[in-house]
Amino acid sequence: MSRHFDLIAIGAGSGGLSVAQRAVTHGATAAVVERGELGGTCVNTGCVPKKVMWYGAVLAGALRDAADYGFSLERRGFDWRQLVERRNAYIEGIRSWYCNYLADNKIQEIRGSARFLDRHTLEVDGKRYSAEHIVIASGSRPLVPDVPGAELGITSDGFFTLGEQPGEVAVVGAGYTAVELAGLLNALGSRVTLVLRKRQLLRGFDTMLREALMEEMQQSGVNIITNSPVAAVVRGADGKLALNCGGVTCSGLDRIIWAIGRLPNSGDLDLEAAGVETDRYGFIPTDPFQNTNVPGIYAVGDVTGRVQLTPVAIAAGRRLADRLFGGDPESRLEYRDIPTVVFSHPPVATIGLSEDRARELHGDAVKVYQTRFTAMYHSLTTHRHTTAMKLVCIGAEERIVGCHIIGLGADEMLQGFAVAIGMGATKADFDNTIAIHPTSSEELVTMR
Ligand code: FAD
Ligand code: NDP
Repeated sequence: MSRHFDLIAIGAGSGGLSVAQRAVTHGATAAVVERGELGGTCVNTGCVPKKVMWYGAVLAGALRDAADYGFSLERRGFDWRQLVERRNAYIEGIRSWYCNYLADNKIQEIRGSARFLDRHTLEVDGKRYSAEHIVIASGSRPLVPDVPGAELGITSDGFFTLGEQPGEVAVVGAGYTAVELAGLLNALGSRVTLVLRKRQLLRGFDTMLREALMEEMQQSGVNIITNSPVAAVVRGADGKLALNCGGVTCSGLDRIIWAIGRLPNSGDLDLEAAGVETDRYGFIPTDPFQNTNVPGIYAVGDVTGRVQLTPVAIAAGRRLADRLFGGDPESRLEYRDIPTVVFSHPPVATIGLSEDRARELHGDAVKVYQTRFTAMYHSLTTHRHTTAMKLVCIGAEERIVGCHIIGLGADEMLQGFAVAIGMGATKADFDNTIAIHPTSSEELVTMR
């Protein structure tokens, strides 16, 4: 087993696996150090298990709607444990696939927790490993609030270990994870309260999306409490939990889920030994080429505190390897026009500037097109989700700098439009595109 490499990645998640894989395709030698499960957050406690649960929740909606399409179904129940077991078996398969993938790609897998000894040397389980280039891709972990009784709650990591469906649950937070977990639990039959410390959810998203999603969640049965910062958690004599949010108390809870953001996994890397600087939260700042302040040490993915998405970690890792070993000195990820989806009910898809942000930056040069309608699928159903779309354009040429969609199919709709927007598409380019009929997406090329 080798101890010296061209590149070592700390973390075998989205970022670490990608940088190592691309490095070996350029002929470099590479290793990944992993202390947990191969695949990192995305595969084990993030995108993948979440999306499986989301599909289950979407199916629950389809079963509800089936009667409106003439089906006579008797719904006898829902087996949470079975869904979780099948989900876990699927994930186990992905992990084995990654294990073979590392071997096939001649990437050495080093098991254990890495820490720096100096800028070219790591220690893992008492053994030393060195590399010309070390990439910190150690990811992030869920944040737990500093309030009395916080340990009685769980985070998204704990959610994915639940063997039983909670009957009564409070989700605290306002971002992607809070919205997604609250939405899927509600759809699968839990009674859900979403606790916001402020007035609205999804800060930074376009106001149309924020307002529409809040209405949709409330109409679907999620109890949303606003302006309620959590002060304490207590367990009652009956074993149930209660959230004290200042003036409001939310009691009788089986579970409380903290979904209030994530902290970097950087505290146990002994970064000082290599001289790597962090910000006050422990995130590792990089320049546009993923360089840290120490030559030969780089950071990609969640640990950098930039956009915390799997494809971003992957793209940053691949481009870094192209720069280091692929003869492309300018290769880097530009952190703009990044499309993203919140797997809510209905899903939200967004890219580029919100209307408010565009107006801050471009003032009167901004022109907005928007529409709101009921997708054809819902014209027959009793339970209806709305669809809303907005294009944010700037200048006389009406270049599209923002595209925001909420509604059935939004999650699969945006990827293609993101290509066009990344290429600088204008409203006229959209208008000149022949619509696909009958779809919801055709509204994006026919807006007046
Ligand atoms: P990670 O994937 O977290 O990998 C870091 C790895 O480093 C971990 O395996 C960890 O064990 C290891 N590690 C840490 N420290 C050490 C050490 N000292 N030594 C050895 N190993 C170490 N993104 C999307 O794009 N779409 C989604 O739908 C989506 N859904 C999500 C849902 C949830 C609930 C969560 C929490 C996240 C979701 N994300 C989603 C975000 C996405 O999962 C992350 O952005 C992505 O996984 C980050 O990749 P990474 O490589 O930076 O870190
Ligand atoms: P986010 O950063 O998305 O949202 C957390 C929000 O919680 C904050 O914006 C804040 O909103 C609120 N909050 C913060 N502290 C508190 C507190 N003490 N009490 C109550 N509310 C609080 O974090 P998430 O954990 O949801 O997700 C982390 C990242 O993971 C996401 O940003 C995203 O990049 C990624 N992710 C991606 C997904 C996807 O692609 N579909 C799914 C899940 C996660 P406010 O200030 O408005 O109160």
